[in-house]
Amino acid sequence: KTHQWCREGVASLVDENQTVSIDAYPCWRKQLLEMVDNNQVAHVTGATDAPPPDVAVIQSETESASSDTASVFCVPVRAQGDVVGFLGLDSLAPRKWRQDLHDLLIIVSSLLSGALERNMLEEQLLSQSIRDPMTGLHNRRYLMPRLSELVERAERYDENFTVAMLDIDHFKQINDTVGHLGGDFVLRRFANILEDLIRSTDVVARFGGEEFMVVLPGTNQIEVQQIIGRILAAVRSDHFLFEGRAIPVTVSAGVASGRERDDRMISVDAVINRADHRLYLAKQAGRDCAFDVSGPLGL
Ligand code: GH3
Ligand code: MG
Ligand code: MG
Repeated sequence: KTHQWCREGVASLVDENQTVSIDAYPCWRKQLLEMVDNNQVAHVTGATDAPPPDVAVIQSETESASSDTASVFCVPVRAQGDVVGFLGLDSLAPRKWRQDLHDLLIIVSSLLSGALERNMLEEQLLSQSIRDPMTGLHNRRYLMPRLSELVERAERYDENFTVAMLDIDHFKQINDTVGHLGGDFVLRRFANILEDLIRSTDVVARFGGEEFMVVLPGTNQIEVQQIIGRILAAVRSDHFLFEGRAIPVTVSAGVASGRERDDRMISVDAVINRADHRLYLAKQAGRDCAFDVSGPLGL
């Protein structure tokens, strides 16, 4: 139960019912499944009623959660083909639910289903527009406004943040050796490694082809060096097993912060340019390494 509205004088059981497992009520479970499968409204019209043969009935086991409930009326709420919840009415008095109430409950449930469905669709569309479908990571469209926010915040609160631009080494060669699908696998596996190693407050995005960006808010230089070191080491030691074959993979990284030596906060573009330039230095230095403002990171 996520929501409950009670008549004056009737205590809400919404908090207690949060922790009640469906497994505690084997009969309720059975009735629910029947209700879902046969698209029926379930009702209990009072202890003395004999259940109508074609209606799923919630038996007395449910009443241990709400001992005063005498009548229950319940209908599944569906969205995108799945049952996502139930809408029900309980009464303390034994009732005969009228056909017009039965129909009304179905109408309200359909309105709820429609609203939930629209909401789910909007969330899916939003997620599709800000995520890279291949790796599931955020994309550039999501990343850029986040970076602008970080710059603003860091300026206002005298904070700092760091970005690391990571680029897979000799990726063209990987594609040539194991094929494009193998290359795609490497991208996905690399994305998983990144997700495993960053904290929940960090952002990781696929910036383009085989370039990824990790954004680390409020992190000092030593912590950044440790995180980048861990990422490079994890990639180096991972087998990237594709179709029974190990693919050796390494990455290079360029690291830049919003504030560096002169302590002045710079623009998003300037931070990215610095990271990009240091990535280039890492490639020049032989790859599988990282550069920050101080030069090569002692990984
Ligand atoms: P470097 O070490 O200097 O980074 O060399 P590189 O070969 O990794 O760099 P380059 O930028 O020359 O090549 C990147 C390649 O990535 C070229 C492109 O075909 C490939 N690529 C880009 N996007 C995808 C993708 O989604 N899937 C696959 N399989 N390959 C991709
Ligand atoms: Mg590249
Ligand atoms: Mg590359």
